[in-house]
Amino acid sequence: MNDRIDETPRFGSCYCRAVSFRVIGQPLRVGICHCADCRKTSGSAFSAYAVWPVSAYEQTGQVGTYGNRSFCVTCGSRVTWVHDGEAEVMIGSLDVVPTDLAPEYELWVGRRENWLHPLPQARQFDHDRDTATEPAPLEPGQPDRPRNVEIPPA
Ligand SMILES: [Zn+2]
Ligand SMILES: [Zn+2]
Repeated sequence: MNDRIDETPRFGSCYCRAVSFRVIGQPLRVGICHCADCRKTSGSAFSAYAVWPVSAYEQTGQVGTYGNRSFCVTCGSRVTWVHDGEAEVMIGSLDVVPTDLAPEYELWVGRRENWLHPLPQARQFDHDRDTATEPAPLEPGQPDRPRNVEIPPA
């Protein structure tokens, strides 16, 4: 999704709009995660997110962080997690609905709700992305690394 110059801005915000952001161009990748952490932190059955280089991302408002998730300190909505040169934007925080973004992969599919089905176009991963076999569209100079190190439940 990153093969052309695209200056398209997208705008997003939390539920109370105290946190707002702008992101430019196409994301590096778009995914869905069904892991236990994403379930708990979202309170939903999965999280859907798109990742941009942090250089394409601008944010205003006060954000708290717990673990590797960020949230609006006023309304508690999960908002963009910025780390290691990337901004992981929650798709549900984007202002235009529906978005034109479609997940390319699904993580932790063993925890997908039984009433959900694999997305036909999305790569399926038992756990986190297998970055060794993926043509990772990282920016030059950014180290590749596992995303979301998850601890399986006991
Ligand atoms: Zn808020
Ligand atoms: Zn997850």
